[in-house]
Amino acid sequence: MSEPITAQTNAASADQAAPAPKPKRPKPKSMLLLNEQTQALFENARLAKERGEKVGWSASIFPQEIAETLGLNILYPENHSAGIAARHQADPFLQDCEGPLGYSNDLCAYAKVNLSYASALNNESTVEFPDGGKMVKPDFLLLTNNICNQLTKWYENLSRQMNIPIFFIDTCYNPSDYVTETRVRYVRAQIDQLIKDLCAFTGKKWDDKRFQKVMKISQRNSFLWERANSLMDHKPAPIGGFELFNYMSAMVCNRGKTSSTAVLEQLNAEIEEHIKNGTSTFPVDEQYRISWDGIACWPYLSHNLRTLKKYGINMVASSYGKAWAIEYDDLDGMARAYCFASTNGDNASTMIGRRMEALKKFDCEGTIYHVNRSCKVMDCQMMEVQRQISEQAGIPFASFDGDQADYRNYSEAQFETRIQGLVEVMAQNKEAKENG
Ligand code: SF4
Repeated sequence: MSEPITAQTNAASADQAAPAPKPKRPKPKSMLLLNEQTQALFENARLAKERGEKVGWSASIFPQEIAETLGLNILYPENHSAGIAARHQADPFLQDCEGPLGYSNDLCAYAKVNLSYASALNNESTVEFPDGGKMVKPDFLLLTNNICNQLTKWYENLSRQMNIPIFFIDTCYNPSDYVTETRVRYVRAQIDQLIKDLCAFTGKKWDDKRFQKVMKISQRNSFLWERANSLMDHKPAPIGGFELFNYMSAMVCNRGKTSSTAVLEQLNAEIEEHIKNGTSTFPVDEQYRISWDGIACWPYLSHNLRTLKKYGINMVASSYGKAWAIEYDDLDGMARAYCFASTNGDNASTMIGRRMEALKKFDCEGTIYHVNRSCKVMDCQMMEVQRQISEQAGIPFASFDGDQADYRNYSEAQFETRIQGLVEVMAQNKEAKENG
């Protein structure tokens, strides 16, 4: 994506009924650094391609440190599709994918956007690139199924379409609340083989010293990302929670790079400054603190934000944003960490445990569940997770139908009435608490 998605920028298009928007505050330095990093990612891939080097596309929770150690240039279709959706440019790709290309409407919308984009790169589709074709054509694919199995089918289609190999790590579903040692050995063996195969295909050499260095950078970045999220426990929260979504590309696409360290150190410093001064970037008084479950609804981020802002609701916790805080310090640790990184690979009790912890830590008064039409596995568990968490935590929730990239699966009216209902219950709870 050409620019990170900014909730702040999207929010500027408030409807006429809303009060006149405040003058836009200048972009913080951390965001400027992030913009530079994003531009560099695409530019480096383009230059590598020009030099005749092999460029890859990768699933967002693939062990990125492997590619970074080998000095490979990698682009991230999920992130790119999110950017297209957030900028309201997805429609031609969705139409092309479901029309001439013949894919089902039920597929993940990130996949639909990307499969169409890839077809255009492959001269099999005439859809125009809104970004000038910055996602250069890949020579190989890096894939894990820790996110979901739709990715597996999506990448199999890309592989067949462009006649390129997939380097795949099967992490399988986590039936326990921990990663068994047998599973660590299963995934570790695949990592070892993948490194050999990737070296043979790209002509790169594995350097263990370089890997140690990349791992350290990646751990530092995970720590900083986790810390930025953790600082939202201050009251009122130092920033509007949606803003953290904007920084995710530093973790999704650049986890093993020092440029992410610079972005995240700066972000932490800016958040700390707000805490010190008792200020917040959240534009109104924080009346309610909620957690957000599920992927951001990128095409309607501004509508989501505007609606929540009306009631002074700040999103202070998000299970999704923390998915990239992956910590480990050797290859076995890498196998363990990447098995346990994503909601869709985890069982309901792990999901519930993590969410209960977050609700407590951030003192949330409610939860909003994004029932994402693309993410069927996530939705399936979400129903039971909602029920159990609401019982255990004693806080209300609202869910809404949406999609992270297909703008057709969302109703502004539904979102507004669901939030209205949630606020009524949160207000009653608050009153009851205040009256003892
Ligand atoms: S279905 Fe959901 S988890 Fe799977 S690739 Fe699409 S957005 Fe990601």
